[in-house]
Amino acid sequence: MAKIFCVANQKGGVGKTTTTVNLAAGLAQIGQRVLMVDLDPQGNATMGSGVDKRKLDLTVYDVLLESASVAEARVHSEKCGYDVLGANRELTGAEIELVSLERREKRLKQALAAADADYDFVLIDCPPSLSMLTLNGLCAAHGVVVPMQCEYFALEGVTDLVNTIKQVHANLNKDLEIIGLLRVMFDPRITLQQQVSEQLKGHFGDKVFTTVIPRNVRLAEAPSYGLPGVIFDPSSKGAQAFIAFAREMVERLQ
Ligand code: ADP
Ligand code: MG
Repeated sequence: MAKIFCVANQKGGVGKTTTTVNLAAGLAQIGQRVLMVDLDPQGNATMGSGVDKRKLDLTVYDVLLESASVAEARVHSEKCGYDVLGANRELTGAEIELVSLERREKRLKQALAAADADYDFVLIDCPPSLSMLTLNGLCAAHGVVVPMQCEYFALEGVTDLVNTIKQVHANLNKDLEIIGLLRVMFDPRITLQQQVSEQLKGHFGDKVFTTVIPRNVRLAEAPSYGLPGVIFDPSSKGAQAFIAFAREMVERLQ
């Protein structure tokens, strides 16, 4: 059975997409069969996996509206070693179109069930909001990975997300849990970041992943080459951290 994880945080620019594509590439490198689902109309995870969002015939939009299956809409990224269910601007419309439909929050879950046997991991890159799209991600998933920067308001932001996840757990998806909080863009020289990191561990205990993703320019450069950092520069500190994170994920699930 495939393990399905959402990478979510309602804040923008916190490292969701970077986490999704690099974890996908890291898992693929250690032999896991991975599907990356882009649920953000910006399509950054699609482009960052070497798939041109403007050239896609079918996307996650068609899957949500049940005009295509996952098997029909996915494409394989040769360079990255995983499959991509892509997104582009068309997905913006899904939010409104879904409102009048039945089972609107369970569309992705149902569609993924048909592709379950093809994968060990499905990773869903969520948009920066707690919208119907994110809700589809949360309803489909077994767990949530929350990337966060160790900054002053970090804990407050996470509290909102934790409450949403509790509600989805109670009302829509009994399987859902927070798998862990991932500290990203970490700079150990900044005292405040160390302090917030300690606070996080105090508050969330072993829900905080051991692996820490450092701030690393190679991770930021990689998307402009249409690659995850793990593929773009495997020896960089950022890439190494994501490979370690992929291993930690696999270990946590055993
Ligand atoms: P989100 O998907 O949450 O909006 P992104 O993953 O797109 O966030 O990251 C926001 C910006 O930060 C991007 O420009 C990305 O390249 C950069 N970035 C993400 N993680 C790192 C990192 N560890 N080191 C340096 N830059 C990073
Ligand atoms: Mg993003």
